Amino acid sequence: MTARRSRRLFFLVPCLLATVRAAAAPAPPAPGRLGHDVVPTFEAVRLTVDPTQPEFSGTAHVELRVAAPVSTFSFHAEGPVISSLRLQGATGQVSARQSPAGRGLVRVEADRPLASGDYTLDVEFKAPFDPHAVGLYRTRAGADWYAFTQFEATDARRAFPCWDEPSFKIPYQVTVLVPPAAVAVSNTPIESDTPAGALKQVVFKRTPPLPSYLLALAIGPFETVPIPGLSVPGRVVTVKGASGLAGEAARVTPSLVSTLEKYFGRAYPFEKLDLIAVPEYWPGAMENAGAITFADQILLVDPAAGGVAQRRLLIEVTAHELAHMWFGDLVTMAWWDDLWLNESFASWMGDKVTQEAFPDTDVEVRSVEGTQRAMNTDARLTTRAMRQPVEAMDNLLQAADELAYQKGEAVLGMFESWMGPAVFQKGIRDYLAAHEWRNAAAEDLWKALSAASGKDVGHAMGTFLDQPGVPLVTAELLEGGKSVRLTQQRFVRAGAAAPPQLWQVPVAIKYSDGAATQTRTVLLTARTQDVKLDVANPPIVWIHPSAGERGYYRWSEARPLLTTMADQAATRLDRRERVGFVSNLAALLDAGVLHGGDFFRLLGSFASDPEPLVVSAVVTALDEVKVAIVTPEARPAFATYVRRTLGRALERLGPTARPGEPEAVAALRPALLWWVAVEGEDVRLQAYAREVAQAYLSGVGHVDPAVTGAALEIAAATTGDRAFFEAIKKKLETEKVPAERARLFAALGRFRDPRLAEDALGMPGRTFQEGAALTKAMSSSAEGSERVFAWFREHYDELSGRLPPMFLAFLPGSALGQTCSEERLAAVEKFFGDPRRNVAGTDKELAMRAEEVHDCLALRAREGGSAAAYLKAADPR
Ligand SMILES: [Zn+2]
Repeated sequence: MTARRSRRLFFLVPCLLATVRAAAAPAPPAPGRLGHDVVPTFEAVRLTVDPTQPEFSGTAHVELRVAAPVSTFSFHAEGPVISSLRLQGATGQVSARQSPAGRGLVRVEADRPLASGDYTLDVEFKAPFDPHAVGLYRTRAGADWYAFTQFEATDARRAFPCWDEPSFKIPYQVTVLVPPAAVAVSNTPIESDTPAGALKQVVFKRTPPLPSYLLALAIGPFETVPIPGLSVPGRVVTVKGASGLAGEAARVTPSLVSTLEKYFGRAYPFEKLDLIAVPEYWPGAMENAGAITFADQILLVDPAAGGVAQRRLLIEVTAHELAHMWFGDLVTMAWWDDLWLNESFASWMGDKVTQEAFPDTDVEVRSVEGTQRAMNTDARLTTRAMRQPVEAMDNLLQAADELAYQKGEAVLGMFESWMGPAVFQKGIRDYLAAHEWRNAAAEDLWKALSAASGKDVGHAMGTFLDQPGVPLVTAELLEGGKSVRLTQQRFVRAGAAAPPQLWQVPVAIKYSDGAATQTRTVLLTARTQDVKLDVANPPIVWIHPSAGERGYYRWSEARPLLTTMADQAATRLDRRERVGFVSNLAALLDAGVLHGGDFFRLLGSFASDPEPLVVSAVVTALDEVKVAIVTPEARPAFATYVRRTLGRALERLGPTARPGEPEAVAALRPALLWWVAVEGEDVRLQAYAREVAQAYLSGVGHVDPAVTGAALEIAAATTGDRAFFEAIKKKLETEKVPAERARLFAALGRFRDPRLAEDALGMPGRTFQEGAALTKAMSSSAEGSERVFAWFREHYDELSGRLPPMFLAFLPGSALGQTCSEERLAAVEKFFGDPRRNVAGTDKELAMRAEEVHDCLALRAREGGSAAAYLKAADPR
């Protein structure tokens, strides 16, 4: 899955695996978990789905194997109301009753113990479509109704009775009865399509072994666009009228698939590939086998209006989901403990193939910023170990956060560098071959990687997975200038105390004697380790403790070395290293190594870097610390600083696209426009943005699609008046392109006039997610988040009726926004901590947000003065 929040879970379960594979005597299942005495070997699901009706109905036929004599067993069904249940053994029908057992389970009780052997279970049921857009749900697009599914992690049970855990990996056969005009799409090609009374019956081919969470169904009057050039038949599937937006997806998919086939050394594993654009959809995308579902605003790109950011998002999300076809679908995690690995691997692999197939996306360098985000989360005391036993099924997907995606990706990348890419690839191929069409655990992957490399990968990797936090590696040149002392400790913010921890860190050191530059990798296992470096002409004059910025660790060294490196960055450091250097500066500010003034001075020097991604890292670093260390009195001087640094960078690029410019420049421009116009208070640019936005809204003249979104948001946030608000509203009346609508809703979230902001909050979206785009934009400012919080309080019942629980748990974050205020925190804690609203995951979310607020206040108290002094001294006014 690709989470929508970011760009973006423990001790393995050898016991469970042994149970699944050998059916040995199992321990009693944990609450909500299924036993293994009675296991399915095949399930046929037949559903009658008419999306114009509020309910659907169906039957499930399950072939069962009873491994040990029992008289009761359970399966999952949560939502479907079962009207009849029939259990049949070799000797005929077995008298059995069903009763709800809580936690989504249905218990079957037979009148007599079931002897070991084969049985069949037949169930009839009926259910309303799910109101939260998960499970099996319906939605309206234009004048037509459609039905879609979203099952990960535990929502297949909302559509039909099943063994809804990933280790029950069995073949399914799906049949649907649907209105004659509907197109039906599932994981496999259609086997037959025949009239059945007023409906038609579509039988899909039997699937290869799949876990329930990877099944998918889409029904409605779809349009399809072929994807030529695949090793199997492929299509993009859209709602009526949207197939004109499918071209870009059809164009980029074949090279991603063939690059993956080449890496894995095996063909795409399923019989066909459909990419389905879903109008109402919470995740970014979902890797259903052979039937990948996407939020429509990601999959569908308007050839005229889609800018570079949109095209990149499409490629990267598609690459991530396609990587899952092998890693996740062909080989599936045995239990949710390894959800992190499933997502980490797909993120790492997705970025790797994106870089290879579409080098202009520059993912190779851009992924450094993702790693930095994960390290920021991991710097907090409320962070968690990436791998933890998953027992409670409530809000399981909360674990699908920056740690599961970006930390995991970075850790895999670090070990790939340590082992060497070819050896790593061999380990991956061996792992897939050994476990294809079955389940596996992370331990199985470490075994394969260790066998390929002759290194104990599992142990070293475990130090990053099983303990929370990120290491800080300090490098110190020793007397004589031929060796370096490396020291590790947990990275925390200044003043915070964490228990002592040790990692096994592959530290890649880059160093120079002034003439030649060399790189050396050592596995740092002790607290302190001295490393003798090969150097022709001592002393070593500079050292960079994270060559290529490939490591998942923060690094530090004496300030003179840091300053030397900053001064010579453009010639000494590669692009990844420069991006990492800039991001590391913000971390060193947090850790108390750098002061506010030093931070702004060093950062400013990177704003003139010729590499757009380095300038982008400067923007991110400013964004991270702005709220904390720019005090209201320093605000005007900060605006001057922004104009002097980022304003000059924008002057070099120009405010509008130039023919033949690199993609990286087009990608950077919107962020610079926003920063210089809004934070830099550049009134000339504000007027320019308004002009661009109005041209776009009125459809007069050509507008650079890459800057439309930024122009709309700048104009709303600065000169936004009633006339501009009405112009956006008018555009929304006719705009049909999902990504364009999302931009317009985000712009509505930027108005600062209180009356307009209130009106914006009252705007009905085409889907619930459009409203979410608005509140997300609004909550990025302090006043805006106050309004969003008030709106949440007023509309909480409506929200809880529409949002899946995992999204409810994230509301406190939006209610706080980018503020550091004790008062707001207390109010948010009081409202969401109330037992009536405290859904699973809320306490964890509140604890994380509280730590953020306290860190922000501490940083302001410590560095606000130093920052203000520097900014004022540098301000010529
Ligand atoms: Zn994923």
